[in-house]
Amino acid sequence: MSKRFYITTPIYYVNDVPHIGHAYTTIVADVLNRFYRQSGFETFFLTGTDEHGNKVLQAAETAGKSPKAYADEISALFRDLWPQLDVSNDYFIRTTDENHRKVVQLILQKVHDTGDLYFGEYGGYYCFGCERFYTQGELVDGKCPDHQKEPQFIKEKNYFFRMSKYQDWLATYIEEHEDFIRPESYRNKILSFLQEPLEDLCISRPKARLSWGIPLPFDQDYVTYVWFDALINYISALDYPSGDAFQKFWPVAHHLIAKDILIPHAIYWPTMLQAAGIPPYQKLNVHGYWNIKESKMSKSLGNIIRPLDVKEKYGLDCFRYFMMREMTFGLDSNFSEDALVQRINSDLANDLGNLLSRTVSMVIRYFGGRVQSPGPLEAIDAALREQALSAAREVEVFMGEMAFNKALISTWKLIAKVNQYLDQTAPWSLAKAKKRERRLASILYNALESLRIIAILIFPVMPQTGIEIWRRIGLEAQLQTQEFSQTKSWGQCAIGSTVEGGKALFPRVEAPKAEGQVG
Ligand SMILES: [Zn+2]
Repeated sequence: MSKRFYITTPIYYVNDVPHIGHAYTTIVADVLNRFYRQSGFETFFLTGTDEHGNKVLQAAETAGKSPKAYADEISALFRDLWPQLDVSNDYFIRTTDENHRKVVQLILQKVHDTGDLYFGEYGGYYCFGCERFYTQGELVDGKCPDHQKEPQFIKEKNYFFRMSKYQDWLATYIEEHEDFIRPESYRNKILSFLQEPLEDLCISRPKARLSWGIPLPFDQDYVTYVWFDALINYISALDYPSGDAFQKFWPVAHHLIAKDILIPHAIYWPTMLQAAGIPPYQKLNVHGYWNIKESKMSKSLGNIIRPLDVKEKYGLDCFRYFMMREMTFGLDSNFSEDALVQRINSDLANDLGNLLSRTVSMVIRYFGGRVQSPGPLEAIDAALREQALSAAREVEVFMGEMAFNKALISTWKLIAKVNQYLDQTAPWSLAKAKKRERRLASILYNALESLRIIAILIFPVMPQTGIEIWRRIGLEAQLQTQEFSQTKSWGQCAIGSTVEGGKALFPRVEAPKAEGQVG
């Protein structure tokens, strides 16, 4: 099988501007995309915006705009944000795109033709904030868990998807495919959800109540409702059904989501695909929430953190590093400015920044900036090399398991090891002894070689930092084009090339005066 990788973020709903939750999901997708590209995979990275539905209509009315004009505006905020966070998506889809609309209608017609859509009356508890019906079991103390409001009981005629028909198929599929939903806690959640009878899914809204949506191809009085519109973006972006991209990338599709949309992605989407005769995606990867001071980030609490504010105050790579290092994928994590400052000062300024600056400045001081050819490896050098090669092996495994924090821990163990190696071999004292020049050259070469491997290892998380290290240690080819396999051999630094000094990679930052908002 050829090496390919397809990664998606959810399409973000345009009733709100981007916050760090959106940034985290999208940066994780970017890190994976860069890592797989480094590893020789042909990749496709998709993100975009979800633009239909009541909330967009209401927000547009409040802003005195047409829903399309409003969606254009918010969608552009997302589209323009990603390059500023070094996110390298291949495509940006909007659910108001003409091609998306066609594919949604094609799938609806297909599922309708097989008899899996039917017209019926439904009465249920409806949360207008969520735009969805809730079953009693999903309500917490009779309230919508997201909005803390009691839903209203409403009755109307609508189209339904025979999701119940696929319950046994889905349960078996998940049982047989261990990594289909990961981490395992979310897989278990879905398996236990599937032990209760699965209800059919209401997939339409009367146009009279909701005009801002894609009309059903078989009944012009209705539009399709959220999920039959939104989820299909993952294949419409690949030009389903006949596009090359669909043939190439759908079999290797990885979805990346936050846990709030687990059920639609783990239950609605695979059953929809099955009904439409399309094989399931390969993996669903689910992460937790970023909390602010232990509470959920929300507009009403006024504790929303904007990614560009963090970037401006602390630098992009510091922000990217912090998010990937601090969160255990799958679990909730806390975003705190104190913790961010701590990481910048210790991991980045003290460990990595200092390692680069001391190594490069010694090459400049002792050898006029020229990389010298090393002598034979001594035991302490071999131990360093072994640690570097094993860090690379660990990073490869951890990236495949979405254990980004562990990958960074392995990398930082290597960084600590190189700093320790310099302390133990003390090149500055060798420099005083005339006959030890060859040994001095070897030690600095080994430190440079470690930095070369570190630059490749950190590149997916901190692209600009990786590139800067690469340049300063005198490597000519572009880091962007280096394969991950370059971390598996020792001795690639070019003899005779010139290193370059410069200002600190990560200046130390002051702790925030009061723990509070960034900005
Ligand atoms: Zn709600």
